[in-house]
Amino acid sequence: MKFEELSLQELVEGITSQKFLSESVVKYFIEQCEKHSDLNAIIEVFDDAIAKAKALDEKIARCEKVGKLAGVPVAIKDIIACKGKKMTCASKFMKDYESPYSATIIKKLEAEDAIIFARTNMDEFAMGSSCENSCYGACKNSHDQTRVSGGSSGGSAVAVASGLCPVAIGTDTGGSVRQPSSFNGVVGIKPTYGSVSRFGIVAFASSTDQAGPITKTIEDNEFILSILAGKDANDGTSIENDFISSPTKEKYTIGICKQLTEKIKQLDTYPQFESAIHAFEKMGYDIVEVDVPHIADCLACYYILTPAEATSNLARFDGVKYTIRSEEAKSLEEVYVKSRSEGFGEEVKRRIMLGNFVLSSGYFDAYYKKAKKLQTLLKQEFAEAFKHCDTIITPTTPGEAFEIGGKIKDPVAMYLEDLFTVPASIAGIPALSIPYAKGKTGLPLGLQLMGAQKSEKTLYDIAKKFKQGGAQ
Ligand code: GLN
Repeated sequence: MKFEELSLQELVEGITSQKFLSESVVKYFIEQCEKHSDLNAIIEVFDDAIAKAKALDEKIARCEKVGKLAGVPVAIKDIIACKGKKMTCASKFMKDYESPYSATIIKKLEAEDAIIFARTNMDEFAMGSSCENSCYGACKNSHDQTRVSGGSSGGSAVAVASGLCPVAIGTDTGGSVRQPSSFNGVVGIKPTYGSVSRFGIVAFASSTDQAGPITKTIEDNEFILSILAGKDANDGTSIENDFISSPTKEKYTIGICKQLTEKIKQLDTYPQFESAIHAFEKMGYDIVEVDVPHIADCLACYYILTPAEATSNLARFDGVKYTIRSEEAKSLEEVYVKSRSEGFGEEVKRRIMLGNFVLSSGYFDAYYKKAKKLQTLLKQEFAEAFKHCDTIITPTTPGEAFEIGGKIKDPVAMYLEDLFTVPASIAGIPALSIPYAKGKTGLPLGLQLMGAQKSEKTLYDIAKKFKQGGAQ
């Protein structure tokens, strides 16, 4: 049986009704991971996965109660702690690190009897838009191996798109779930800030980071998010988000951001975006122009705020704890300097330099403080805009997946990839990416739906109706 063609509900139903074994499902996906190892999406398959699946099958055979994800294999980004397993953040600095405890989201998935079975490739410490900044090498696009997978959760998106797992978890600081989802034709969400506990997840920018599921379908995505979401005593920034019970509507109002119109019109993919708008019109939805006056400043704001936070968050990686230590070091200071110089990759170093610059005494007011003010303003502007519409739509990315090596030497070109994804991150609002069209070379394109705080249910509902409404 081709298990990747089943929905999560069908998988769970098949396993719990003993139509097939969780062991067979896990083995099947492990085989797929091995068969498609050239994609470089999976870093490690956990050696206890089959034993865990067998134990679950026995539990089912004994008619014991099992969870909502009974026997479903889940792949996780290499930045999420899973007790006793390696977690390297795709950094050679962390190559020997083993997690002493599990992240809250791992516990939640395991409480529902999911089988955490593999670790996925990513950009080092989640910094990047192409999954090329990995100590394991680039992860390749599932549709064209000469193209990037997108980043930073490229491995997770490719794993789902290529049928290596039914669901994978990524993290999104400024687009890292949505952009690779868009590049590989799968569904990914960045939830409302705080909805998913970050306990046990290495965040490089704590004020925007959120974990989110990547799946083939919108229904599967909603199902997994409902399991991941919720307040956690171990994460002071977490919030209760009972989005599942919020009401849905027959007809929605779709917002187009006035300040992005010109930029979107200049894209090669504008015709596809325009046809998405027409599809909504045909469904009888109102299309309105809304103002988010500072939306275009988000990219600059993001690349000031998040390096500043990265500088501070990465200070603990010092050659003493977590990481490997330079063998050249002869003094404590050298332990710090040499270990960090040898351990971190180029992009991570670039962000640390940028972060220190914007936080330095002469520049703090001009950059960091100003960016913080802009963040507050943006939250207000979005809140105002959502009084007039249920969602604001944009393309998820400016174009199709680009060539491997195409932008890696040009950081600014790489950062521009995040133009449409960072606003939701800065404002802390939910944003969903769904596949909706193909680009010139036939690669998938994603449509982004942003919504007000805690409006995930609305976004999922609009996306489902959009798909049913005839969009491909
Ligand atoms: N591409 C963005 C960056 O490099 C987003 C990364 C992310 O969301 N983790 O910062």
